[in-house]
Amino acid sequence: MSAGPSRLVLLGHPVAHSLSPLFQNAALRTIGSRLVYEALDVAPDALHTTVRALAGQRAAGNATVPHKEALFALCDRRTALADRVAAVNTFWVDDDGALVGDNTDVGGFDALVTAVVGALPTGCRVALLGAGGSAAAVLTAIERWGGCEVALFNRTRGRPERLAARFPVVTRIATSTSEVVEHARLIVNATSIGLDGEAEPLGLTAVASDVAVIDLAYRRGRTPWVRSAQALGLRASDGLPMLLEQGALAFERWFHQPAPRDVMRRALA
Ligand code: NAP
Repeated sequence: MSAGPSRLVLLGHPVAHSLSPLFQNAALRTIGSRLVYEALDVAPDALHTTVRALAGQRAAGNATVPHKEALFALCDRRTALADRVAAVNTFWVDDDGALVGDNTDVGGFDALVTAVVGALPTGCRVALLGAGGSAAAVLTAIERWGGCEVALFNRTRGRPERLAARFPVVTRIATSTSEVVEHARLIVNATSIGLDGEAEPLGLTAVASDVAVIDLAYRRGRTPWVRSAQALGLRASDGLPMLLEQGALAFERWFHQPAPRDVMRRALA
């Protein structure tokens, strides 16, 4: 068990828009910590130097776009989950001075799906849009559910094929959005579409009424796609519950005590 962090940071580029400081600082105040969770805008070419300096200070924290894969490579040790995703979003320094990387996006996605569907699905077809870093975390979660298979669609080739080679749970690479949703019980958007507050990754008017819709993107007032899904009477959520849970799990890695999730949720609301 580590002695606890001397400093808490979020590494991103850009990072000013992040909601993580809001709820992490509320959690820190609740446990009486004097630490302040700071968002650090780190350009990619400065990541290596910054991370080594932070490790020397026994800092801990999170990484967001575009640093999760690069941070994975910089860690001295990684958890099995981080290895499977090949990306690190949570780090700390152990007592032996080793920089340890974990991935709490996987648990965050499980919490998001549970919030929408009521339990983790088994034996179902999932349609996954996107083939970036968060898609790998989604696939790592789904392969642990048991008996599910995934149809994958991405606007460009290359990344979906590489993900399918790493994750046998991907049984189909679709060539269109209409193909990817065939027989799906759960549709997941892991692309950046929707962050602008206007675009939607695919139309939902033709999907069955019992399909659940999950958008990893989030913004105040929900994403346009989630608003459309809910207007059609579908169960749907944006990525805020995932953001919250990945942060709560990270907090528990740093402080070895339950995260004050209610406080964090209220800070986000
Ligand atoms: P990433 O690695 O950069 O991947 C981005 C993905 O979006 C790629 O599949 C990319 O396709 C696709 N894409 C981007 N712009 C597009 C467009 N205009 N049309 C169609 N596809 C487009 O990013 P990421 O880390 O996976 O993140 C993806 C989304 O998940 C972001 O919205 C992010 O905020 C969200 N996210 C949320 C949480 C959470 O806690 N809620 C956690 C992680 C990520 P190409 O391969 O063709 O470029």
